[in-house]
Amino acid sequence: MDLTQFPVIDNHCHPLIPGKAQLDPLSLAREFYHGLGDLDDSSPKGALSAARMADLASLGVVHTLVRQLASLFDCTPDLAAVAIERNRRTADDFGAYAEMLYANAGIVGTVVDSDLPDEAPGLELIPRQVMRLFQMGPAIDAQLGEANSYEDLLAGYLDALDQAVRVDGYVGVKSHLAEVAGLGVPAPSLPEAAAAFDAAKRDDVTAYQTLYAAVFAATLSLCQELDVPVHLHTGITGGTWKGPIGNADPFLLASWLSRPEFRSSQVVLLHAGYPWIEQASMMAHAFPQVWVDISWIMPWTSLRAIECMRAFLAAAPLSRLMIGSGGHGTPEVAWLGAIVAKIALSNVLDDAVAAGLMADAAARRVAAMVLHDNAAQLYALEE
Ligand SMILES: [Zn+2]
Repeated sequence: MDLTQFPVIDNHCHPLIPGKAQLDPLSLAREFYHGLGDLDDSSPKGALSAARMADLASLGVVHTLVRQLASLFDCTPDLAAVAIERNRRTADDFGAYAEMLYANAGIVGTVVDSDLPDEAPGLELIPRQVMRLFQMGPAIDAQLGEANSYEDLLAGYLDALDQAVRVDGYVGVKSHLAEVAGLGVPAPSLPEAAAAFDAAKRDDVTAYQTLYAAVFAATLSLCQELDVPVHLHTGITGGTWKGPIGNADPFLLASWLSRPEFRSSQVVLLHAGYPWIEQASMMAHAFPQVWVDISWIMPWTSLRAIECMRAFLAAAPLSRLMIGSGGHGTPEVAWLGAIVAKIALSNVLDDAVAAGLMADAAARRVAAMVLHDNAAQLYALEE
């Protein structure tokens, strides 16, 4: 099945960085590394020694990057050659280069997770339609500085969220429950949240976790009324590796989502819970309010992408799967995410058709849904 011309919505991406127009080969590979640095705290965050930098060229995803860029550029498939050609093109116009990549992969819209103002260069560099998310953490922190009580904080926060969606057209909320408190944290009562307020203001970690979980509950409720989804990182969260990462298993959300008051709160599981991908798919099967965002997996686990896609198609309703990249900094990440997603989908769906598990026309429809239509429906985009 040739999916080249199918449009894509990238459901989870971050701003591009104008300063990344020129990248030496290992720095280009570095864009696809999400582990910790090996240098001490006196070096920049995530800094790598020369030996570890050299390792990056051997990441599976970097092999895929090289293979795909070389065929796009019609050049030798090695990291140095593709980096040289990329830099030659970006030197003319980084924005035009991003535009070319997005057109090549068919990306027509992007849901962006960022606190930058709309007119920031990093957002303006993203080609085509940009949809924004209200960020829960920074909004809480802004209120925490000013408010005198939990009730105050909550009122200010909910006002800001309401305004972002109704007035500014934001399409959802981004939250970090897994990183801040763990997905298994119980939903606090109002008295518990109120009691945690003073200590949270003094930076007490446990009190802040209680406050965050309480605001998360209120966010789920308001978003029902606003008819927008709440995005949550599940599984690997990118590069932070701090906080209770073992508590990012999507199954831990079951105690939240089975509560009657949250039954119709739309929740998007970002990064599809990797490596707990079966759990993410089962959560969408079990809970009618759960969508699975297959980002990070595409492109980061490219050499396993076909098996991962098979795991999602196995159990989740196919109407609630979406593609994302988790891209940031350089447009190659989102581009490669869409390319890898198309490769994975066409392999899995072709197999299903060949084995007699699905009709050909249905398989094509499913590809269109996962790449674009499910997200377009969730965000109520006009045709
Ligand atoms: Zn992410």
